[in-house]
Amino acid sequence: MQHQQRLLTGDRPTGRLHLGHYAGSIANRLKLQHKYQCYFLIADLHMLTTRPGKADIEAISENARQMVLDYLACGIDPQRSVIFLQSAVHETYELNLFFEMLVTVPRLQRLPSLKDMKDSANLAEMPFGLLGYPVLQSADILLPRAHIVPVGKDNEAHVELTREIARRFNNLYGEVFPIPDVLVGDVPTLVGTDGNAKMSKSLNNTILLSDDQTSVQKQVMSMYTDPNRIRADIPGTVEGNPVFVYHDVFNPDREQVAELKQRYRHGTVGDVEVKQKLAAALNAFLDPIREQRSRFEAQRGFVDEVIYEGTLKMREQARETLLEARKAMGLTGVWNRISRKAEDARKKREKAVAQ
Ligand code: ATP
Ligand code: MG
Repeated sequence: MQHQQRLLTGDRPTGRLHLGHYAGSIANRLKLQHKYQCYFLIADLHMLTTRPGKADIEAISENARQMVLDYLACGIDPQRSVIFLQSAVHETYELNLFFEMLVTVPRLQRLPSLKDMKDSANLAEMPFGLLGYPVLQSADILLPRAHIVPVGKDNEAHVELTREIARRFNNLYGEVFPIPDVLVGDVPTLVGTDGNAKMSKSLNNTILLSDDQTSVQKQVMSMYTDPNRIRADIPGTVEGNPVFVYHDVFNPDREQVAELKQRYRHGTVGDVEVKQKLAAALNAFLDPIREQRSRFEAQRGFVDEVIYEGTLKMREQARETLLEARKAMGLTGVWNRISRKAEDARKKREKAVAQ
């Protein structure tokens, strides 16, 4: 039988997931979890790049729990997939260091995502670790030797870098790593409720998968729409309008959406009706997720067990990969030669003392 191909992706444990995470990445994971051996990374080391404080670290375990609850609620199957904690797999740090030697500083400085992260974290200067974020991501991806990486558009360039690093490693030392493919979701970047190009926790423009019905209703009613449309009888713009973007992504009633768009363009529907229908569609989408979530939440310790078991499995996989990487690089040989000589010398000395 042909070996099953592997998939890796992950999220920073900043807490509960939002609709952007779902559209950009979770939807693809659900689609692919039966086709690939999946590895889902709780990227807590990545959190340290912008939030290294003690309080931030203390918050990781609870945030990770909430995030994994969201995975399970959406339908990620922990029996099939490996969900693991990045910081507990020490080979990550080691592979990261090897990869740091295979990439240049200007190559990293050219990535626009890093500047965005620095700015949204309100950092005046670029920390060394943040510059290395995409290298660490390459280590994450190549540790389970993943073939495919489903991520949002903002991470596409990082997978490209990973491909370069994998090629460079293989060229220098021999074929150890596959060249992974990126898979961007049907919705490359979901807009925020405020009209900002990206729904993001740090921008405070999210709808969480675990928000209750009333709060979804409230958030939708105050969503940003076409700013030029001050009255319902003024023709409005549908393209790029977040209310219609969400309708397109989350409302399965295509006829209703088409009809609303047409009336909006002609100025024969009010924002309130469009929004009320969106809130209803979102709540219908989220209801089964909420239900599953509370079912898993009621099972005390279950989520921790999922993370624990997954991390143990990942550690095994990581040990294997690092052994191959070190062997290919010849690093195991360096240590073996030294330790062999040291042992010989010790034995000789002990023999001399005994005589
Ligand atoms: P936030 O800013 O809300 O914390 P993030 O971008 O930091 O989100 P990450 O943990 O870095 O979240 O990313 C998790 C995955 O979700 C990545 O694949 C990322 O591309 C995707 N993602 C996050 N936000 C969106 C969005 N608004 N639209 C599409 N994909 C997204
Ligand atoms: Mg973030």
